Amino acid sequence: MNIARNVALIKDRIAQACIRAGREPDEVRLLAVTKYASDRAVQELIDLGVRCLGESRVQDGLKRMARFGPDLEWHLIGTLQRNKVKYCQDFALIHSLDRMPLAAELERRAAAWGKQQEVLVQVNISGEETKHGLAPGEALEFVQRITRECPHVRTRGLMTIAPHIAAEEVRPFFRKARALYETIKAELGLDWDTLSMGMSDDFEVAVEEGATLVRIGSALFREEE
Ligand SMILES: *Cc1c(COP(=O)(O)O)cnc(C)c1O
Repeated sequence: MNIARNVALIKDRIAQACIRAGREPDEVRLLAVTKYASDRAVQELIDLGVRCLGESRVQDGLKRMARFGPDLEWHLIGTLQRNKVKYCQDFALIHSLDRMPLAAELERRAAAWGKQQEVLVQVNISGEETKHGLAPGEALEFVQRITRECPHVRTRGLMTIAPHIAAEEVRPFFRKARALYETIKAELGLDWDTLSMGMSDDFEVAVEEGATLVRIGSALFREEE
């Protein structure tokens, strides 16, 4: 496994997708998803200059924060339970806010922490029953409520997970997510800057459709990429 080579290749593929879409490569952040990686592999990523890392589960994220120190930016990308919010103070960005009780708990905790917790609102853009996230039609009102009622919760954009189908077939879903992102941002006049979409098997299409952050796990640790 050659992580250095995989990182270089993925960055290059992101840059090429940006060029195809008339975007600047530095508009897209690479979030390295480390949920299946060994500590050794994570250390290798850090040594390569990767600073933005993501874990699915709160406890795994906390362990890695403790192991690798505070200079990194850890994101929580997986579903968050309300009873785990109290452990989330040090996550730079939570990608999975999708219901009001969770927002209320984040508000309560973040106020006590004396910070604004940055979050993304997760949208279930494909409507698959197995996926978490708000229905697209509910997202604007939800964001409006957070903005109004939760001063310690700061939304920075949307996160979505595309259906597990051929990369080219996911394009309409990414396009729909981008349109929703732009609509909410404009209608509510928010200073949003993050559209989190695209994973190992579909990130180039996501970048072409406007992703500003891609969440890449397995492609970083593959034998051949
Ligand atoms: C695991 C995971 C990823 C990374 O998936 P890969 O296909 O391994 O790149 C991205 N986003 C979420 C929400 C995940 O749970």
